[in-house]
Parts: sequence; C-alpha cells; structure tokens
Amino acid sequence: MSGKLLTQKISNCSKCSYSRNISSVNGAKFADIVISGGGMVGTAMACALGKLESFNDRKVILLETSKEAEKHDWSQKPYENRVSAITPGSSSFLRDIGVWDRVTRKRCNPFNSMQVWEGCGNGSISFDSSDIGSPYISHIVENNAIIESCGEQAKECKSVEMMYQTRLTNYAAPDSSASEKLVTLEASNGEKIATKLLVAADGFNSFIRTNSGIKTIDYDYGQSAVVATIKVKTLPNKTAWQRYLTNGPVALLPLSDEWSSLVWSTSKDKAKELMQLSDSEFIENLNEAFTKPNNSLIPVNALSDFMKNVMSTIQPGKYASNVSHKVPMPIDILPQSRGMFPLGMKHSTYYVKSRIALIGDSAHRIHPMAGQGVNLGFGDVKSLVENIDNSCRLGRDFGALENLLPYETERQRHVLSIIGAINGLNMLFSTDAFPVVFARTLGLTMTDSVSNIKEQIIRHAMR
Ligand SMILES: Cc1cc2nc3c(=O)[nH]c(=O)nc-3n(C[C@H](O)[C@H](O)[C@H](O)COP(=O)(O)OP(=O)(O)OC[C@H]3O[C@@H](n4cnc5c(N)ncnc54)[C@H](O)[C@@H]3O)c2cc1C
Repeated sequence: MSGKLLTQKISNCSKCSYSRNISSVNGAKFADIVISGGGMVGTAMACALGKLESFNDRKVILLETSKEAEKHDWSQKPYENRVSAITPGSSSFLRDIGVWDRVTRKRCNPFNSMQVWEGCGNGSISFDSSDIGSPYISHIVENNAIIESCGEQAKECKSVEMMYQTRLTNYAAPDSSASEKLVTLEASNGEKIATKLLVAADGFNSFIRTNSGIKTIDYDYGQSAVVATIKVKTLPNKTAWQRYLTNGPVALLPLSDEWSSLVWSTSKDKAKELMQLSDSEFIENLNEAFTKPNNSLIPVNALSDFMKNVMSTIQPGKYASNVSHKVPMPIDILPQSRGMFPLGMKHSTYYVKSRIALIGDSAHRIHPMAGQGVNLGFGDVKSLVENIDNSCRLGRDFGALENLLPYETERQRHVLSIIGAINGLNMLFSTDAFPVVFARTLGLTMTDSVSNIKEQIIRHAMR
C-alpha cells in the first residue's frame, strides 16, 4: 500500500475532527487509533478510548495475537498463577473506564496488611491499612480476570473493534517532518489498515518499538521468578508477605482464605532447581525461605532488638514490633501451577515517535518486587488518553509528535523514579556484607517505628 496515495486521499485530515466517519482509505480500513497488543494494558487503553466523548464518532481497532478467552464460571475455576497487586489508584481508574465492577464480579481479593522483612538480619517493617484509615492496601487480581473484563467492556463500546487472533506483521510510520499523516499497517489476516496513531501495547519484546528504532536501556538482574498457587494455613489470610533473601525476594500474596499466589525471585539456577522439585520438596524449600534464620549476624540482630525495645518504650501501643512478626505457613501447592519467568529491566529512551506511542511493558519493564509493572501501565493509559482527548478538544492532530510529547515527559518522569527506587532496593538487599546489613537493619527498624514515614510510604505505594 502506498503511503503517498493515502496522503492524497486524506490530505485535509491533519486535525482530529476531519477524520470522523471515514471508514476506508484507498482500499485500506481506516481507524483513528490502532492498538497492537491485547494484554492488560492494551485492552484497558481500548476501554478508556471507548469511554471518551470526543471518540464517539471515531474508530479504534485493537489487534491481539491470541484467541479471545472463552466465557467460564470464575467461582469454579482453579486460581491462575499470573496475578497482579492492583493499587487503589489503578482500581479507581479501572472503575472509571467501566472495568472494575466486572473484575470484582469475577474474582479478586483485598488485603489489609503487609509484612516485609529481611533474610540476613532481623530488620522488618509492617504496614496496616488502618494506619491511613483505609479498609485495604491493594487487591490481588488474576491477570486474566482483568484482560477478560477489559475485553467485555471494550466490545460494548461503539467505537472499538477487537480483532483477536490477528498479529501486527508490518507497518510504516511517517517522519514528523513528512506531509504524510497516516501510519499504514498490515495484519496477519491480510487486512491493511491506515491510522493516525499506532499505540504499542505489545509487551517487553515490542515489535513496534524494535522496528521503529527506539533504543532501550536494559539490565539483567540475573534472576528468574518462580510463580505458583500455594495453599496456606495462615488465617485470616489478609497479609501480603515479602522476605528479602540475598538472591531475590520471596512473596506470598493472598488470593482467598486458603490460597495465596507465590512470586519467588531468585537466581536463574536456583529457579531451575525449584522447578524440578516434587511438590512436597517445593513446599519444604518455600517454608525454609520464609523462616530460615541467619545467625551469622548476631551483633546486628542484637542492635535491632535493642532499638525495637527502645522504640516500644517511647511509643507504647503504637510500636509493638519488638514482638517478632508472624510468618506465612505454606502447606500445599496447586498441582501444575508452577511457572518460571526471566526478570529484567528495560526502559525505552523514547515513549513516542511521530504517530507512535508506547504504553505498558513495551515502554518499561520492571522487577516485580514492588508490584508496580501493570500499575505503571495503567498510569500510561490514563495519561495518554487525557493527552489525546485534550488534543481533540483543541482541534489538534493527536498523532503528531508535538502533541504526544507531553505524555512522554509526564510518564518518563514518574517511571524513572520508580525504576531507580526498585534498582536501589534490589542492590541494597542482594548483599550480606556486614556494614550493609547493619545499615539496612537499622533503617528498617527506624522506619518501622516512625508512623509518619510509614504512612507516606504506604500512600505512595497505593497510588
Ligand atoms: C512474576 C511477575 C509478577 C508480577 N506481578 C506484578 C504485580 O503484582 N503488580 C504489577 O503491577 N505488575 C506485576 N507484574 C508486571 C505485569 O505482569 C506486567 O507489567 C504486565 O503484564 C504488562 O502488561 P502489558 O499489557 O503491557 O504487556 P503484556 O502482558 O506482555 O501483553 C502484550 C500483549 O501483546 C500481544 N502482542 C505481542 N505482539 C503482538 C503483535 N505483533 N500483534 C498483536 N498482538 C501482539 C501479546 O499476545 C500480549 O497479549 C509482574 C510480572 C511478573 C513477570
């Protein structure tokens, strides 16, 4: 398909309003926006655009390689091993785009406390939602519950067309200096599509990002995450647990009274070993990971105990962590629920190019230790859609580079600060060198004792 011909046909389409009601251009299907990738972030983007008044007479197409999920009874289904901690900020965004109620009708579980502690010293920190007057900290949701809910909602939007089992195979985007205003693309079903903006929601190995020459900064943590669905004895099961071991954090996230979801980040070799163990050996190893003491740092632990005693004397009632915290009790594993995922950091140097915008993991892939990946992706969607809406209202061309740049500036500022904090935490906890353990045990103990700082941390994490 020639981009030139397309340009001639709709050369007067530089402003958003002119593109309304065009359904095809020179034999190619026309859509104002094409989203490539129907994971959690891409499908949320489709729903958010579908809710925009300024998009009532426009068209959005979403291309997704995999099949549309079949309808099933969520109350009868075993828990899936891919879950996400969804912050109140994200659940409120999903509510605004008509998705959250669908998610809660499927399955999700709020938790109201968090216990974080380390494997070397006995430094620990706990958070409780009641400290900030909230009934919960976040929800644990199976990824497919979000994808399916977004898919259902998107199909109800007049302006959105979902094309499943269809891969984006090729595209050509004009330079910002070109007079051409459209991206031309080809899908695996042979369909040709012309669009004013191509949104890449195609994951961390993004075809669009790679093809458009956008560079990334990459970091290999040398870790893989082993995930599984674990039966626990802890009741009530309303606490998210995370212990920092030197080769990565191990976390259990509550799914229901008796089930939790495991994310065990560890060295690549250890992860492979864990995948080979029998179910009972795996549970034994998991219990050890949560409970095995490290007695080699007795002076650090003695100092930390001393500090906790002092703080509980200064702030009786407010600070009771001198009583050692509880630990989770994994007792069984859902058969066949183990999975392994490589972990790495990837950050795109640009989130936008002329007529292209990256969102979600295609723009930034981060370590799961802080449970922020998809929450950042939803933040991208919110920001990009506001940007597009704003351009439409002002009669500007929403796909033009200059009108996409505010999105990039806003999101990179936010995402880079999170990546910095996560990489810092990863480095801080990956050593058992005495001075570092000493400093971090002291830091955790002090932070745990100052309620104002804890409140700020938890409020930040809940955004
Ligand atoms: C172990 C683990 C635990 C995690 N826990 C959390 C957590 O607790 N909280 C949190 O916020 N985040 C968490 N994350 C991160 C989160 O899972 C990701 O950030 C999120 O899945 C990214 O979603 P996405 O839609 O951007 O990309 P993806 O989920 O990768 O989706 C990309 C989609 O694009 C489709 N696609 C790819 N190429 C094409 C193409 N050419 N044409 C059409 N379609 C295409 C794919 O089929 C796929 O459906 C975790 C990650 C891991 C690995």
